[in-house]
Amino acid sequence: MKQNKKSKVALVRCESYDTDQVESAVNEGLQLLGGIQEFIDSDDYVLLKPNLLSGHTPEEGVTTHPAVFRAVAKAALQASNNVKFGDSPPKGNPEKIATTAGLMQVADELGFEFVSFEDGEYVFYKDDQQTRKFKIANQVLKSDTLINVSKLKTHNLTRITGAVKNVFGCVSGLEKPEFHLKLPLTPDFSRMLVELCLLLKPDLHIMDGIMGMEGDGPNAGKMRPTNVLLFSRDPVALDTVFSSIINLKPSKVASNSIGKEMGLGNIDFDNIELVGDDLESFIVEDFDVYRGMGDELKPRNPILRMKFLKNWLSRKPVIDEQLCIKCGECIEQCPTDPKSLSREKNTDIPEYNYHTCIRCYCCQEICPEMAIKIDTPLLRKIVDYFYN
Ligand code: SF4
Ligand code: SF4
Repeated sequence: MKQNKKSKVALVRCESYDTDQVESAVNEGLQLLGGIQEFIDSDDYVLLKPNLLSGHTPEEGVTTHPAVFRAVAKAALQASNNVKFGDSPPKGNPEKIATTAGLMQVADELGFEFVSFEDGEYVFYKDDQQTRKFKIANQVLKSDTLINVSKLKTHNLTRITGAVKNVFGCVSGLEKPEFHLKLPLTPDFSRMLVELCLLLKPDLHIMDGIMGMEGDGPNAGKMRPTNVLLFSRDPVALDTVFSSIINLKPSKVASNSIGKEMGLGNIDFDNIELVGDDLESFIVEDFDVYRGMGDELKPRNPILRMKFLKNWLSRKPVIDEQLCIKCGECIEQCPTDPKSLSREKNTDIPEYNYHTCIRCYCCQEICPEMAIKIDTPLLRKIVDYFYN
C-alpha cells in the first residue's frame, strides 16, 4: 500500500488545562480537519482510546489530561450519542486507573461509559508480516469510529510514545508483555506497532501535548510545557510533527520510518500539510529525549546480544533507592523467564540481572513511585556523541 496523498496535521496552541480554553482549542483543531462529522456518522459506535498507562493523577502528566479527554468526548457526543471509552493498561484495574486519571469523572459527568478491554479475540493480520495475529479487545472490534487520544511523552524503548504507540493499548489483556519478549529490538517492536495500526486503522488521532514529558518517560520523566494539541488522520505524520517539536529527527523514530515504508503514513514534510499554528513556534530545542544511536548497535545474534556488547553499550534501568517503596510490581511486570529483577526478601529493593534484561522498560512503565531511571554507560555516551 502506498501513501501518496498529503497528510494534514493541525496544530493548535493551548497553554493551560483550563476547561474552556481546551474545549475551544480542541474544537478549532477538529474544524481544521473539516469538523467532527468528517469522522463520525450519527449512528456510529464511537470508542475513545486515551493513554491510561498506570495509576497517576492528571497533575503527574503521565495520562491523557481530563480536560482534553472531556473536550474530545463532548465533540464526539455532538455527532453520536453512542460514545464509550476504554484502554488496556499494562497492569492494575483499568477502572481505578481511569478514576485516578480523572477520566471516569468526565465520563460520568457527560453520561457515557467506560468499557473493559479485558475480553478480546484473535484477529489475523497478514501471513507475510512479522506479526500475523493480534488479540484485540472486543470493544475495539465492535467500534465504528476509533479515536486515539495520546499524550506527548518520551519513551526509553521507542524514543517517543505518540499516536502509533498509543494504539498498543487496543491489544487485549496480558498479551502485551509477550510482544516485548518476542520483539526485544526497537525496529521489530516498532514494526509490530505499525502492523497493529494498519490492522485497526484508527479514524482520528489527537495528541495532548499541552504538558509534555521529557527524560525518563513514559512514567518517570519531567513535565515540560509544549503548549500544543495535534490532530490528524495519519498517525505517522502526527508523530513526525511531534518529533520535530521536540527537536528529534523524525526518521530516528523507528515507527515513523517503518510506518512510511509500510504505507501507514507520511514522514516527509513535502507530503504533510500543516494547518493551524506555526510549527516553528512550538519547537523546544533542548527537549530531553534520547537522540543517540538506537538498536542499530545491538547485534541480532542473541548470544552476542546477551553476553558482549550489551552491558558495555546498552542503556539500562536502575532503581533510585530513595524513591523505591519495595512494592515488587516491577518484578511482577518483567516479561523475561526467569525474571530479570529479583530479591531475596519482600522487604528488599529489587536487583537487576542485566545479562538477561532485554531493556523493554516495562518495569519502568509500571513503577508507581517513578523510581526507575535510565543509566547510560560511558562507552555508550562516547558512541552517542559521535553518532549525533
Ligand atoms: S515498582 Fe518501583 S517502587 Fe516498586 S519495587 Fe519496583 S522500583 Fe521499587
Ligand atoms: S528488568 Fe525491566 S527492562 Fe529488563 S526485561 Fe525486565 S521489565 Fe524489561
